[in-house]
Amino acid sequence: MTETKHMHWSEWLAEKVIEEKKEPYVITAGMTTSGPLHYGTLCEFLFPFAIKKALEKRGKECKYYFIADIMDAFDAVPASMEKYKEQLEPHLGKPLCNVPDPTGKSRSFGDHYLDEARELTKKFHITTEIIRINEYYEQGKFDEYARFFLKHEDEARTIVEETSGKQEKKGWSPIMPICEKCSRIATTRVTKQDGETYEYVCDKDVKYTKGCGYQGTNKISDHKYKIVWRLHWPTWKQIFKTSIEGAGIDHHTKGGSEDTCKAITLNLMKKDYHIPYRYGFILFQGKKYSKSKGTGMGVSEVIKLMPPEIIKYMLLKPDLEENIDINPTSEILLRTIEDFEGASQIDPNKEEVSRSDRKRAIAFGLSTDKKNWNASFLDVALYQQLYHDWNKVAELTGDKNGVAYLKPYIEEWVAKGFLPEEYRSEYRLGTLPVTDNVKKLFKVLDSNIDGATVHNKIFEFSKENNITPKEMFKQIYEALLGKEKGPRAGKLIAAIGIERIKKDLGTL
Ligand SMILES: [Zn+2]
Repeated sequence: MTETKHMHWSEWLAEKVIEEKKEPYVITAGMTTSGPLHYGTLCEFLFPFAIKKALEKRGKECKYYFIADIMDAFDAVPASMEKYKEQLEPHLGKPLCNVPDPTGKSRSFGDHYLDEARELTKKFHITTEIIRINEYYEQGKFDEYARFFLKHEDEARTIVEETSGKQEKKGWSPIMPICEKCSRIATTRVTKQDGETYEYVCDKDVKYTKGCGYQGTNKISDHKYKIVWRLHWPTWKQIFKTSIEGAGIDHHTKGGSEDTCKAITLNLMKKDYHIPYRYGFILFQGKKYSKSKGTGMGVSEVIKLMPPEIIKYMLLKPDLEENIDINPTSEILLRTIEDFEGASQIDPNKEEVSRSDRKRAIAFGLSTDKKNWNASFLDVALYQQLYHDWNKVAELTGDKNGVAYLKPYIEEWVAKGFLPEEYRSEYRLGTLPVTDNVKKLFKVLDSNIDGATVHNKIFEFSKENNITPKEMFKQIYEALLGKEKGPRAGKLIAAIGIERIKKDLGTL
C-alpha cells in the first residue's frame, strides 16, 4: 500500500481495490432490517457508497449491492411497534419477510423497515441496488452452496467452531429449514440429510418462541431454508463476486464472524477473499443503539434541522475505525454546520493544506457536489430572528437561493425552540435603557464598517474608556436586545445596521 496518511479512508480503500482486484468492482453491504433506522443504519449504506464514489472518481466501473437480510428470524417486537404487540407476537421465530407488516404499508415486517431505509437512501442521495435476499433464495441462487455445505458439513462445522471459539450443539447444520407447519425458521433443526433431501424437526426452544413439534422432509430445490449466518455471509460474497465489503468492529473481534467468513472462503470453498474493512461503533450520546429502547433524536428528526449533506459529512469525516458518537445538542449541531461550511472552502489539492483539512475537504466532496447556500447558516438564523421576514433576510445576505434552501431547516430550529438562547434575539432598541457608553460608542462608529471591524472597534473603545470589554458587550446586548448575552456583537450590530441604530439612538 502507498502512503495513506493524507488520504481519506474512502480513498485508500479505493486504491487498495484497484491494486488487488479486477474490474468491474463490486461493493457489497447488508443488514437485517428488523427495527427502526438509526445512525448506524445510515452508515451501513453510506460507507460503501463513499468507496463507490472514490472508485468512480478514479474512472472505475463499480456496482454497489445492498443486501436486505430479511430471511432472518423475527426475534423481538421493537419498542416502536409496541402497540401491535399482540398481533405480532404469534409470528416470532418466522423469517422477517414472512411476518405481516401490522401497519399494512409494506409487503412484510422486514420490508417495513427496509422501505424506510429505501426512503432514507433517497433523502441522502445514496444510490445502491437493494437486494431482498429471500428472492435470491426463492430463485435457488443459494442452492449450490447449500448442497456444498451439506456435503462438507463436518469441515464447515469444524471451521465455525474453531473460528468462533464455541462448540456448536449436537445437531448443528449448515442450513435452517423453514417449518412447513408453523412457518418458523428459528425453531427447526436438521436430523438427517443426504446433500439434497433433509429431514427436520421443529422442536427448539429459543426463549422468545418455541417449535411446534412438526417433523418433515424437504429438498434443497424446494428453497425452504436459509444457510446459517456464518456460512451465509461468505456465500453472498461468492454470489455477488464481492471485491470489498466492510463490517462493524463487533464482527471483526476474535471469535467474530469475519474470521469464520475468511476461513470458509479460503480453506473450504478455496476461493479468493475480498478486501475486508472494519468500522467503529456508531454511538448515540455515548451508548450503543438499542432496538428495544430506541433512542433520543433520531436521523428522521435531525434531517429536519440540517440538510442531509451535513449529516453525511458528520459521519464521513472521522477516521473509519474511530467510534462515532452522535450527540445532537443544538451547540454540537451548530458547530457541525460551521465545520461543514468551512470544509466547503478548502481545496484538497493545494499543497499547503493540512492533513485534517484535506480529510475535511474530501468528506465534504463525498457529501455533496456543492454547497447550496453562500451566507452562513448562523447569519441566516440571526437575520431571521431579528427581522422575522424572509425577504429581508434574502436581501441582507444577498443569497436568495441559499436562504430559500435553508429556510425550512431554520424554521424547524425555531419551532423546536432549539436555537441557543443567544440566537433568539429580537431588536428592541428604544424600549430599553441605554447607557452613556453605548450612546458614545455609536457616535464614533462609522456606518459602513463590517462586523469584524465593529468587533475590533468595541475592544478599542473599551480600552480608551476604561471599561472591560465584557461589561461593554453586556451593555450593548442590554440596549439592543434586553438581555445580557447575544450573538457575536460585531455581527449583530452589522446585521441590524449601524445607520439604523444611530438613527434610533438619536430619537432617544
Ligand atoms: Zn413448526
